[in-house]
Amino acid sequence: MDKTIDILKTTNYDKFKCTADKCKFTCCEGWDVSVDGDTYNKWEKGKCSEILKNIKVEKSGDSVSYSIAKENHETCPFLDMKGLCEIVKKHGEEYISSICHTFPRVENKFEDRRELSLSCACPEVVEIISGLSGKINIFSDNKKATKNNLLELKVRDTLVNIVQQDDFLLEEKLLVCFQMLLDILEDEELSEEGLEEELEKYEDSKYLQEVIGKCKEIDSDINESVEEINYLLLDITKNYKEVSSFEFLLKDISDFAEAVKVGNLSVKWQEYKILFEQHSEFAENWIVSDIISSCISDDIEELIISFELIILEYLMVRYAVFLKYCINNNKEIEIQDIKDYIVTLSRIIGNNSEAVTEFLRDGFEDPILEIGYLCFISLF
Ligand code: SF4
Repeated sequence: MDKTIDILKTTNYDKFKCTADKCKFTCCEGWDVSVDGDTYNKWEKGKCSEILKNIKVEKSGDSVSYSIAKENHETCPFLDMKGLCEIVKKHGEEYISSICHTFPRVENKFEDRRELSLSCACPEVVEIISGLSGKINIFSDNKKATKNNLLELKVRDTLVNIVQQDDFLLEEKLLVCFQMLLDILEDEELSEEGLEEELEKYEDSKYLQEVIGKCKEIDSDINESVEEINYLLLDITKNYKEVSSFEFLLKDISDFAEAVKVGNLSVKWQEYKILFEQHSEFAENWIVSDIISSCISDDIEELIISFELIILEYLMVRYAVFLKYCINNNKEIEIQDIKDYIVTLSRIIGNNSEAVTEFLRDGFEDPILEIGYLCFISLF
């Protein structure tokens, strides 16, 4: 029997149009560019040695993965001096890897649905999100669309519902979501029914308030929190300062962060936080857009890591914009700074998830951070 596949799209999906040569970020810089097996086989069959010599092949057990041979902070070796792709010039659009072909479009396939969303690593996507009025979501044009029965999508819906609550700060809602995912991970006996009951608890805003209250009990000192987030930003961005499309955004804030006295920053932080909250509608839509695209795994550990990277992205963007605000001695936050740092940090964190997970494993022993640590760097 034929199964109908529903197609769902995010609110902004059909609005996207690449700005091509007007774009100040190239698509090909600042992340690992993976190559799908079909494209690799096509290059092999076509004996394209000039392409194959720039491809990294990695084997792990029975699986093989391919990517463009470059460090994630380097520019794609196929990019020419004018920013055009050598593969496209020589062989045509249909010869490039599917990720290059589709970026920034993201397609997630499930048994009975295909979901189409957009990556915030593209400045045009972020531009559209910043102009949305109302809350972003994913929906089907088909009024009879099948109800979502997959548990992982129910978990994701709960994350979106929590983040779209109006009564709490965004960082508080992110911590509630993280705590919920940790509770699910830790309960090895959790049945399907038990999971649904657990998710239902988070529909009640009084319960959310309770979880937030517990997060706030964690002792923290603003100077120590600022110092920690300052180190974290410097560590996460250190390999990317020389990337040409990031240099104008990362160089001055890194130099400033290395030299500044943390006490001076802490004094300005409270006034800045209030100003940043004025952009909470935009920030919420950006975060929900990321959750829709990337929190879809049926493996709870993978799901937590995807969500944790979104939290880190949010905290790093908020802090990077703060450094810029301090450097320029501004009285207001430049919205363009928020947009630029979302693109940059989406590429550095979200699109390099394996490298960032490794970085967390090296620095914290476990890539899944403790809730106390996240509270320490979020709630000051
Ligand atoms: S980053 Fe986005 S707007 Fe810029 S060239 Fe790539 S797809 Fe186009």
